[in-house]
Amino acid sequence: MRVPVVRNILEVNDRIANEHRALFKKNNLLVLNLMSSPGAGKTTLLENTIGHLKEKLSIGVIEGDIQASVDAERIIGAGAAAVQINTGGACHLDANMIKEALPAIDIEKMDLLFIENVGNLVCPAEFDLGEDYKVMILSVTEGDDKSEKYPLMFHEASVLLINKIDLLPYVDCNMNKIRETVLKINPHIKIFEISCQTKEGLDTWFQWISDHIKR
Ligand code: MG
Ligand code: ZN
Repeated sequence: MRVPVVRNILEVNDRIANEHRALFKKNNLLVLNLMSSPGAGKTTLLENTIGHLKEKLSIGVIEGDIQASVDAERIIGAGAAAVQINTGGACHLDANMIKEALPAIDIEKMDLLFIENVGNLVCPAEFDLGEDYKVMILSVTEGDDKSEKYPLMFHEASVLLINKIDLLPYVDCNMNKIRETVLKINPHIKIFEISCQTKEGLDTWFQWISDHIKR
């Protein structure tokens, strides 16, 4: 008797992600998958980044949200191309959703593509989208214990941006503890301390992007 076996969801996802990776490579496109909990500052960081780099680079954003298109509207307002994915309840983006979104933006002349994932510290880290790097934002208002509770995110990310450092005097958050616990999970992660409000530290992040652009 032959039993039909449905292939593992992640296996199918990885096949599509690999197709994206080949396409991105062919176009010399740097692709960053931006992950964080809701409200950590993903869209605000993107507005700042686009504002600073749009004269030098052609930038696009794939916006992932459960519903609404307010974030894509902010991105277009900041001066980048944007396409909105509404996941309709799903709490992460997968490679197939990216496949649906790609025809809506012109990546051929693009230098930098951000994928703003759904705000969630759990499953976005499990799905390869074909990106070059996963970039994580953690805001100091979330406290200093998130890497112990959600280690996979910190393990998968190549860059950690610790945001809202202007609020450090008002919140119970130990920056040394964040660094120590994160580096134990992922010794290679690059950590930047930033504030999108005061603009402190953003130059180091912009420089990281410039150093990784492929053309
Ligand atoms: Mg957002
Ligand atoms: Zn999910």
